[in-house]
Amino acid sequence: MEGGAPVDYGGGMTATASDKTSTVAGSWINGAVAQTTGPTHQLVNPATGGVVAELALATPADVDTAVGAARAALRGWATAAPVERSAVLAKLAELMEANAEVFIAEEVSQTGKPVRLATEFDLPGSIDNVAFFAGAARRLEGKASAEYSADHTSSIRREAVGVVATITPWNYPLQMAVWKVIPALAAGCTVVIKPAEITPLTTLTLARLAKEAGLPDGALNVITGAGADVGAALAGHPDVDVVTFTGSTAVGRRVMAAAAVHGHRTQLELGGKAPFVVFSDADLDAAVQGAVAGSLINTGQDCTAATRAIVARELYDDFVAGVAEVMGKVVIGDPHDPDTDLGPLISAAHRDKVAGMVSRAPDQGGRVVTGGRAPEGPGAFYAPTLIADVAETSEVYREEIFGPVLTVRAFTDDDDALRQANDTQYGLAASAWTRDVYRAQRASREINAGCVWINDHIPIISEMPHGGVGASGFGKDMSDYSFEEYLTIKHVMSDITGVVEKDWHRTIFTKR
Ligand code: NAD
Repeated sequence: MEGGAPVDYGGGMTATASDKTSTVAGSWINGAVAQTTGPTHQLVNPATGGVVAELALATPADVDTAVGAARAALRGWATAAPVERSAVLAKLAELMEANAEVFIAEEVSQTGKPVRLATEFDLPGSIDNVAFFAGAARRLEGKASAEYSADHTSSIRREAVGVVATITPWNYPLQMAVWKVIPALAAGCTVVIKPAEITPLTTLTLARLAKEAGLPDGALNVITGAGADVGAALAGHPDVDVVTFTGSTAVGRRVMAAAAVHGHRTQLELGGKAPFVVFSDADLDAAVQGAVAGSLINTGQDCTAATRAIVARELYDDFVAGVAEVMGKVVIGDPHDPDTDLGPLISAAHRDKVAGMVSRAPDQGGRVVTGGRAPEGPGAFYAPTLIADVAETSEVYREEIFGPVLTVRAFTDDDDALRQANDTQYGLAASAWTRDVYRAQRASREINAGCVWINDHIPIISEMPHGGVGASGFGKDMSDYSFEEYLTIKHVMSDITGVVEKDWHRTIFTKR
């Protein structure tokens, strides 16, 4: 994978997904590379500090152009037969498979995520999602047509809501783009997406391949730029119909406020602080294994990552010792090496933020059992970290860390466990570890989150929805449920009597 395959973005410019400086076109508008006029931005590989590519950023004026292109393409795409949209998405899934090496090389270089994760999780998950929506595009079902009044036939039309503006984060650039863009396209919407300015490469490749798959020009546009100007211009654009967002809670609320100025619908996938509840009857080895995998995935930069282990008092010491032992075996290193388990954090600045939070934990009662340091050498690496005995009020327990850090607290009884699990503003995901079917049922009912895993933590599947409650946002990605974000429901009510003076008219006026 080292070096990466050359990527042709059109316009005669190429980038390699290695550390070599090269220039890529920054935006993709109306089916072509756009000549934007914003400043140039360097994409940095966080594992090495080397420059991956140089990116021409867009400006708010380019946002107007992209939205205009999406608006112009809307009618044609929205009125295409479902089978036509399905065929484009099915072809896109095939092209993604054929370009797997390109996606993987770009994703690893721009995020520093381990190549094993990109190869076995990010890419196959993304392709499967596209393939799922190729099928789902053909079955936008609704209520049956019927005579709900004796004089009328009622039917439901589910229509594309229009132009979708979407803004995505840097942690899973390809998956987050796919989760937002693909159901929208399947529903007949057209899209303008702004990826995080530090990780745009795979989103640009997705758009290029979508054109190759037969997507009409303008149906998918990618604008690259910073959140404060380009992101804000897109979120607050008067001529989009829906704004969807994945990112932090603070920014999500700003995005919602910008969209609210125009009364536009929003869908927000925001932060998380997932509880990982280990009941006294749990399989301890499975819980230890699950806690390490669930907290370290993507170097902990996962909105559903296990961050708050809440463990039965009788298992507590063994759980802490077990997690510390397994964390100690995790291989940190070059993301391109298939033997690497843990890559760097997204940037040195983010590594410093994580390190700062961990360094303040002991003052708030936490005991750093393992980790708590950045390894020597270049790159934004940080060791897997376990902090036991954290106070309920401590920063590491309450705030999203977004790093390879697991906190642990003990609980006394099941009521206390569930109280602690829900003691957070977030509600994205949670897990309960137990061999007792009644405990499992109670936990799945009472934990306040968009997803509750039983005896596992992390797996996702295209057929099932993803999305949170509370400060984790609202609305769904993935599955048929995501169509609710991209379709309007229109009731068509047809008179079937043909009479001039309808019965109900007499309520309004009578001919005397
Ligand atoms: P972020 O909120 O800083 O940025 C997300 C996106 O918003 C980026 O594209 C950014 O450029 C843009 N942005 C920033 N300011 C903006 C503004 N004023 N107006 C419009 N757009 C703006 O998030 P991040 O640091 O990129 O990602 C990490 C966060 O994402 C974490 O909080 C994580 O939990 C969350 N996340 C949530 C999910 C989910 O499904 N719930 C999935 C992945 C990540």
